[in-house]
Amino acid sequence: MNAHAGTPKSVPYYAETGNECALFNAAHKNGLPLLLKGPTGCGKTRFVEHMAAQSGRRLYTVACHDDLTAADLIGRYLLRGGQTEWVDGPLTRAVREGAICYLDEVVEARKDVAVVLHPLTDNRRTLMIDRTGEELQAPPGFMLIASYNPGYQNVLKRMKPSTRQRFLAITFGFPDPDTEIKVVSEESGLEPGRVAPLVRLGGHIRNLSGMDLEEGVSTRLLIYAATLMAGGMGVEKALEAAVIEPLTDDADIQTALRDLVATVY
Ligand code: ADP
Repeated sequence: MNAHAGTPKSVPYYAETGNECALFNAAHKNGLPLLLKGPTGCGKTRFVEHMAAQSGRRLYTVACHDDLTAADLIGRYLLRGGQTEWVDGPLTRAVREGAICYLDEVVEARKDVAVVLHPLTDNRRTLMIDRTGEELQAPPGFMLIASYNPGYQNVLKRMKPSTRQRFLAITFGFPDPDTEIKVVSEESGLEPGRVAPLVRLGGHIRNLSGMDLEEGVSTRLLIYAATLMAGGMGVEKALEAAVIEPLTDDADIQTALRDLVATVY
């Protein structure tokens, strides 16, 4: 099961880019679920980790994938020492404990997951466990957060209106240049003066039009590049491994990206 839980002792660093912290707090206070939309590597997970730690709530994170079923979230009977025993899944644990459950890339999950989420995300706030006959009422501290990337144009995997209209929603983009310099520098240890051109390059790549890039370079990749550079690697090699190769397999686009690098460095 691709889930992990944690109550971090310290609050992970997060630079706010809009009013997302206030929105999170309002959602949490009012027991409303929250949907985070945005490209990969732009800070959604870090935001949730930061806010969960700040509110002192345990966080259950589930990385959703196309084989993930409702049972993976709710739980199942397992054989233990010759006996069958019910074992809660991460969503059930979060509901019982009044914790935060974060379903990353929720549109990837199987369709039966939506059936589970519906009674949990409207005013009923209940989790039905068919197998045990239990019906759990979520306590006030429980919060459901889901994320998805609208950039992946997969018609089959769009979130249905009946599901998405149960969530408050917020769009995440890449941070503005000053914030991104701060974030990349903080995370990599590379001084802001050397991060600035990297962030400028990131901006150029994200603005490229007419190129077959599925998505612009993420903050995460810029942090990788800066981390390599902070460790002593030359700019060219660092960008090759952390930006150009991860972004595309297409030789022509790689050449165009190298040309772009040359205009910045
Ligand atoms: P997502 O969940 O959107 O795919 P992440 O939250 O994993 O992306 O972000 C990738 C990395 O980028 C994080 O590990 C963190 O280092 C960094 N990051 C991005 N945005 C921010 C931000 N606003 N504040 C702090 N770190 C950030």
